[in-house]
Amino acid sequence: MRKVADCREFPSEINCTLTIAGTEDEVVAAAAMHAVAAHKHDDTPELREQIRGMLKDEVAVG
Ligand SMILES: [Zn+2]
Repeated sequence: MRKVADCREFPSEINCTLTIAGTEDEVVAAAAMHAVAAHKHDDTPELREQIRGMLKDEVAVG
């Protein structure tokens, strides 16, 4: 089961629509890099906890 992080549900001021899917660790790592690069967040344990808390199970389409 892959996990999904949807940036639309992440508090941001740039209306980002990125969705990241993969294993939990992959998504947290990629989303943290994205948050730093695109949202000017600091890569902190708190940020990663916040990302981990917004992960959802990927919904299979079809
Ligand atoms: Zn984003």
